[in-house]
Amino acid sequence: MNFKEIIEEIYQKIKSIENKGELASYISELASVDVENFGIHISTIDQNNFGIGNWNDKFSIQSIAKVLSLVLAYRMVGEKIWERLGVEPSGTPFNSLVQLEVDNGIPRNPFINSGAIVISDILLSNLENPKEEFLTFVRSLSNNSELNYSNKVAASEKAIGFRNIALCNFIKSFGNIKNEPADVLDFYFDLCSLEMNCKELSDSFLFLANNGCRIVDNITILTKSQTKRINALMQTCGFYDESGEFAFKVGLPGKSGVGGGIIALHPNQYTIAVWSPKLNKKGNSYKGMRFLEEFTTKSELSIF
Ligand code: GLU
Repeated sequence: MNFKEIIEEIYQKIKSIENKGELASYISELASVDVENFGIHISTIDQNNFGIGNWNDKFSIQSIAKVLSLVLAYRMVGEKIWERLGVEPSGTPFNSLVQLEVDNGIPRNPFINSGAIVISDILLSNLENPKEEFLTFVRSLSNNSELNYSNKVAASEKAIGFRNIALCNFIKSFGNIKNEPADVLDFYFDLCSLEMNCKELSDSFLFLANNGCRIVDNITILTKSQTKRINALMQTCGFYDESGEFAFKVGLPGKSGVGGGIIALHPNQYTIAVWSPKLNKKGNSYKGMRFLEEFTTKSELSIF
């Protein structure tokens, strides 16, 4: 399949449409990003890679990092991880508190903030230097030792992180946070501040399109069954309370972040990263979703 031609054509079309939506200005560092940025990179299993637009510019991957922290925790803890959090779409906004009360402090899934905070707690309990070791893990996935956190973004989020502080303390009251909330939150804000460009992002996720094995050396990151489960979670819970809409219009497992990035993948084919900072009302990149909808339509390749 000639992905390059299809991507070029859709890129030109989506670049010229009205750039609707808002920046995630609640994190002050994200409020100053140039809204005209628009980049795409595809990494394929057969290493037919291609990028266009601002594919080489770094951005804050935010919640997309929640997939990678889940993968590391899943590797370490195995199936016991599901005793601490569920696998159901929440149907509520990413930072919602309401379901935690009825669910006794068990977050509905690992991709809403409450779930990712529990995953951060699990990593804190299982790693000696969580911040360094998580970064080492992500660098090994993307085969890129340059990847890093943004201290500025982490600090700006920490300064206004009242919701996340409330979530962490609320979960702790049910006994589902084992470490000090302040330490858990510091790590959570760090991992949300990871920066990547579209190529680094699509490369990092390629193992999930390759049955859990890293492409460069065939090393197993997750088993086939674990990979299926992570991809299923991305399909059902990867886009906040718009996950159904993303499945309906795009038809690929994926994950978005409030930095305007989206990663999506087709098992045994490719990963594709799209970045455009303006977000729709549900917090997903407006142009990113539009691009991917056209991409799976034109390529006639979705998991459905
Ligand atoms: N760090 C962001 C927060 O906790 C992540 C939001 C997101 O990308 O969904 O609010």
